[in-house]
Amino acid sequence: MARLLMAPANKFPMDPKSQTLSLLETCSGMEELKQIHAQMFKTGLVLDAIPISRLLSFCATSASGDLSYAHLVFQGIQRPNTFMWNAMVRGYSNSNNPEEALLLYHHMLHFSVPPNDYTFPFLLKSCAALSALEETQQIHAQILKTGFGFQAHATNALLHVYAKSGSLESAHRLFDRVNQRDTVSWNSMVDGYAKSGDMERARELFNQMPAKNVISWTSIISACVGAGLSKEALHLFHQMQNAGVEPDNVVLARILSACAHLGALDQGRWIHAYIDKREMQIDPVLGCTLVDMYAKCGDVEEALSVFRNIKKRGVPAWTAIITGLAIHGRGREAIDLFEEMKRTGIKPNVITFTGALTACSYAGLVDEGILIFNSMKRVYNVSPSIEHYGCVVDLLGRAGMLKEAEELVMTMPMKPNAAIWGALLKACHIHRNFELGKQIGKILLEVDPGHSGRYIHLANIFATTGEWDQAVKVRRLMKDRGVMKLPGCSSVSLNGVVHEFLAGDRSHSQAKEIYLMWSRIAERLRQEGYVTATRDSLLDLEEEEKETAIHQHSEKLAIAFGFISTEPGTVIRVTKNLRVCEDCHTAAKLISKIYSREIVMRDRTRFHLFRDGNCSCKDYW
Ligand code: ZN
Ligand code: ZN
Repeated sequence: MARLLMAPANKFPMDPKSQTLSLLETCSGMEELKQIHAQMFKTGLVLDAIPISRLLSFCATSASGDLSYAHLVFQGIQRPNTFMWNAMVRGYSNSNNPEEALLLYHHMLHFSVPPNDYTFPFLLKSCAALSALEETQQIHAQILKTGFGFQAHATNALLHVYAKSGSLESAHRLFDRVNQRDTVSWNSMVDGYAKSGDMERARELFNQMPAKNVISWTSIISACVGAGLSKEALHLFHQMQNAGVEPDNVVLARILSACAHLGALDQGRWIHAYIDKREMQIDPVLGCTLVDMYAKCGDVEEALSVFRNIKKRGVPAWTAIITGLAIHGRGREAIDLFEEMKRTGIKPNVITFTGALTACSYAGLVDEGILIFNSMKRVYNVSPSIEHYGCVVDLLGRAGMLKEAEELVMTMPMKPNAAIWGALLKACHIHRNFELGKQIGKILLEVDPGHSGRYIHLANIFATTGEWDQAVKVRRLMKDRGVMKLPGCSSVSLNGVVHEFLAGDRSHSQAKEIYLMWSRIAERLRQEGYVTATRDSLLDLEEEEKETAIHQHSEKLAIAFGFISTEPGTVIRVTKNLRVCEDCHTAAKLISKIYSREIVMRDRTRFHLFRDGNCSCKDYW
């Protein structure tokens, strides 16, 4: 193209207009453009619609343009035509002020300049950015009136805005009417339903899609991860690969989050290997999710190694590793990294502080924790939130400083929530301050009336102090209020399959072998002097079905499954949805010693590494 323009120019000198157009065609930046503009004033070409349109278009829409300069040029034009208006609308729709595009459109109609099919997509883009439903409906009416309704790109833009702003009915009506639906229209619909939380409709439409691209898979997988349907997300990811669609960084990060949620270490490792094999770039988001996945799946060494290899470490990566070390009870290392982070000039955010305070709490680093807490406002101008107060209450409570903990709860600037009272109650239980425990237990029944654990906890405290009638009363209250116990569920991830166990569960295909294995383990445990904690099971904070024999707890079934399905010496990794119960904790410690097996157990809040008869939580959880 450039050669065609240049070749005849050598033989016949160009007229000023052609020359200007040619210069504008090859213009590389604003400095050059301003020179051309000055030249146009001299030659009078500023009044010629074609060169001034080109100049305007460059300023308003090219990457090396300048929108405010475009605005000045635009204001100098006497009667701008549709092309010029469109250039400005497009420029603003891509800017930080998309509302300017809507305002321009308003002026455009005022001056009776007719819009065309290049006007609407950019207007709708602005509407999407602003979630401006009212304006969208007006523009929609305009599109129908002007007869652009069947233009695929205008329709897709409309669909996108309706779906994005949650007006799914309008979106669906439009979708039903479109003859040529392309992948973009399908994606908008799937994404709209997924984001509004209607996973069923999203899945239904997704299954009907004639052609799915990486965006389609990403939106359905992200929606599943967001809705906590991690197993479903992994399943979809396998289907995506079978369909031959190459995953990108976004979908890989989502899948890593699903692995972290499930504790599916082997799957997570597989994704990591996949990223390495494809020599894909580990961007900050992917790096951070990898660290988080390894930490949450129990491989904190690998989390550290990935962290060390991230080239540009931002706050999220530091936060992920600090929190990861914290939940493994490696508080000292977490705090060392926290200090290192601050030395490198990176300012901790609210989540980093939660991680650092959790680290101190789980590792019993009282002085360090209080120092960090006090530095939040003073040094970093970060106001402590209720989560931070919760960490400190937990920190003081665990250390037996019940009085201080209670005082903090009474003087904190916000109303204490269930988590705060819960932390205090746990401290009362561990340090056997049953009087205070009863008071707090009663408060908790009012603050958190739908949580079964609160009732069981209080009932157990009454049982411990011999007040059986009170204990029965609490249990009855729970029944009357219709509060259901959340069933305990433990899972083991093996070769890409997540095996889940409920207490007393016999649904697993190897149930027979699993129960046989557990009875063998239990026999060995008895020989070593282990007694099932009958007295302690009354005190037990555990929220699992009481009626179920303690030997059929989900943790034990999961450990037994680990024994029959892995080689001797392999680490057994179990993920539990609730707190690990005291009896299972004792059993796991003993098993780790008798069989020389490491057991890594993740519960609702933290990790337990059972090794040589001890647990990394130092029996404090
Ligand atoms: Zn148990
Ligand atoms: Zn433990």
